Amino acid sequence: MGTTIFAEMSALAVRTGSVNLGQGFPDTDGPRQVAQAAADAIMAGRGNQYPPGPGIPELREAVAAHQRRFYGLDYDPDTEVLVTAGATEAIAAALLALVEPGDEVVAFEPYYDSYAACIAMAGGARVPVTLRPPGFRPDLAALRAAVTGRTRLILLNSPHNPTGMVLRREELAAIADLAVERDLLVVTDEVYEHLVYAGEHVPIASLPGMRERTVTVSSAGKAFSFTGWKIGWVTATAELVTAVRTAKQFLTYVSGGPFQYAVAEALRLPGSYFADLRDDLRGKRDLLGGGLADLGFEVYPPDGTYFITADIRPLGEADGIEFCRELPRRAGVVAIPSAVFYDNAEAGRTQVRFTFCKRPEVLKEALTRLSALRR
Ligand code: PMP
Ligand code: GLN
Repeated sequence: MGTTIFAEMSALAVRTGSVNLGQGFPDTDGPRQVAQAAADAIMAGRGNQYPPGPGIPELREAVAAHQRRFYGLDYDPDTEVLVTAGATEAIAAALLALVEPGDEVVAFEPYYDSYAACIAMAGGARVPVTLRPPGFRPDLAALRAAVTGRTRLILLNSPHNPTGMVLRREELAAIADLAVERDLLVVTDEVYEHLVYAGEHVPIASLPGMRERTVTVSSAGKAFSFTGWKIGWVTATAELVTAVRTAKQFLTYVSGGPFQYAVAEALRLPGSYFADLRDDLRGKRDLLGGGLADLGFEVYPPDGTYFITADIRPLGEADGIEFCRELPRRAGVVAIPSAVFYDNAEAGRTQVRFTFCKRPEVLKEALTRLSALRR
């Protein structure tokens, strides 16, 4: 495999003129004032040369203020915040820093594709715990059973890509208890923290005993609809941040100078911005989810993220990979077969992931095209 599934499917969409509901990226850019702040920074010569290794102070302060404003979490912007090239680099640097060859990393599958690659790059072994439909709720007994004497850390993702599951406070508390009891670190990918439609996002770092053992990762891509800017961040104790920075400095060293100024401004947007983003996406979730259900898919409505998982068996289909390969020709739509997110591919064989972060008319066009499947 030469490219990621996302790049492969986006290229397929372009080649076939399909509506691309595969790779998750919005078709409408984020706030103009934030884009203007990036343009202004470039023209004013701010960030055009190497920014400081940990990130510009304005952004580290804005990240710390954001964690305090939304979750009551206190991080020292000077020692406990690190700016990265998207969450992707934050995850890579955290795993390279914290996982030694032979260490086991426990994570819920299906998982975002970079996790498996980064665990492998660190020389670790991944130990999957399978989430199952319809709710994709974590099996906490299975999680506990997956922890061995070789387990180094638990890698979490909530809201969860691809299933849209959002870990509940009591589930997080059970995971936290396990981490404390077995003295494990937790790396938690919270890039969809503001895309929650039911319940609430609870950072595991806010639970008792967790701040000192949690590396929290997030990014500007999803919350501000600028996935191309690749500005992410880590919050953790000074010791953990130092470890992650030690790996990060040999990955990109630094990145995105002018965008860092703009993201600092974005993080200070009023609560109404985040509420509007969420309400808009909730409407799109319902539009696509309702439409897919009308077409006969079994839809598992997500509580978070901008992805919907649907099962294709009611359509008489048995294999998501084959289904997605044929979908551009049959219907002019691109989706992602969820099997690629599983080690245990059988568990996800009939699941397909669609993104709904597109304009309503695009979602409607996709649904019209998909009605061709009904013949
Ligand atoms: N984690 C998850 C779960 C994601 O869906 C994404 C989206 N690409 C990332 C990390 C990477 O984020 P970024 O674009 O900020 O690198
Ligand atoms: N996070 C996006 C998704 O899951 C895409 C990220 C990527 O292309 N690497 O679709």
